[in-house]
Amino acid sequence: MKKILSILVLSLLIFSCNNKGGKKDQNQKVTIDTTTVRKHLYTLASDEMQGRKAGTEGIEKAAKYIEGEFKKIGLKTYADLDSYRQTFTFKTRRSEDSITSSNIIGVLEGKSKKDEMVIVSAHYDHLGMKKEGEGDLIFNGANDDASGVTGVLALAKYFAERGDNERTIVFIAFTAEEMGLVGSRHFGKDIDASKFIAGINLEMMGKEPATGPKTAWLTGFDRSDFGKIIQKNLEGTGYKLYPDPYPKFNLFFRSDNASLARLGVPSHTFSTTQIDKDPDYHQLSDEAETLDIDIITETIKAVAKGTESIIMGVDTPTRVVIEETKQ
Ligand SMILES: [Zn+2]
Repeated sequence: MKKILSILVLSLLIFSCNNKGGKKDQNQKVTIDTTTVRKHLYTLASDEMQGRKAGTEGIEKAAKYIEGEFKKIGLKTYADLDSYRQTFTFKTRRSEDSITSSNIIGVLEGKSKKDEMVIVSAHYDHLGMKKEGEGDLIFNGANDDASGVTGVLALAKYFAERGDNERTIVFIAFTAEEMGLVGSRHFGKDIDASKFIAGINLEMMGKEPATGPKTAWLTGFDRSDFGKIIQKNLEGTGYKLYPDPYPKFNLFFRSDNASLARLGVPSHTFSTTQIDKDPDYHQLSDEAETLDIDIITETIKAVAKGTESIIMGVDTPTRVVIEETKQ
């Protein structure tokens, strides 16, 4: 009996050693879980971050948190940058003061198509603090857009653990979106747009859309066949993607996807929120407690599954053509 036991222990040891290190095999599930989602969301939307306005100490704390996560995941730096930061200085229309802030960028190199890049992004800045008044003065920006950054971090970990992406994935937390898509415009300045195959931008993913549970909507649905590719990949999963239900709001041009779309990149924004009747949009009440962790988690999973064929180099969405006069 003892002998049998020791053989059993020995073989178990050998088995577990064989499974250590290297890439996860296909049977070993890589997951996106609610615990991690909750942690990212509550950290980024905490009062400590003071509303994450570009140029403040609060956003600096958020930047450090994102950098720390990118490092843990093992992402590389982008292009010729020597850290995850792409730092730059700009002026806003409202003020003459210069603001210095950083996009946070981490790269997961592709296996066979290194030069073909897919962006996964969200903005980590928000509105900051209300100048005067009593009580809560912090615009926490939980849905807008700590939820999206949570998605970027969860997807970075997910694809890094899988380790089988054929195309290079560039994970970006953009700054100063709320000041006029400043961070994404800056990122777009010096890129060779032809190398960017798609842009996956995440905004406000924490509430149930009008189309019901397990659904999301995509801005600029008809501007490329990106959305159709996602719909095809989601068939049979129980999760559905719909075109943006608010065409009047011109949302395609109101988030960071637009800065890349203007360069021809099929770059779209995923969202779940009923933006026409959301009581918390750009309000002090946009707090983590108002969001549904399951909705965020399911949506991140759907984005992973939906974009898989693009990341694997199987599907290439059509380019976006924008006639500047018709915006
Ligand atoms: Zn936003």
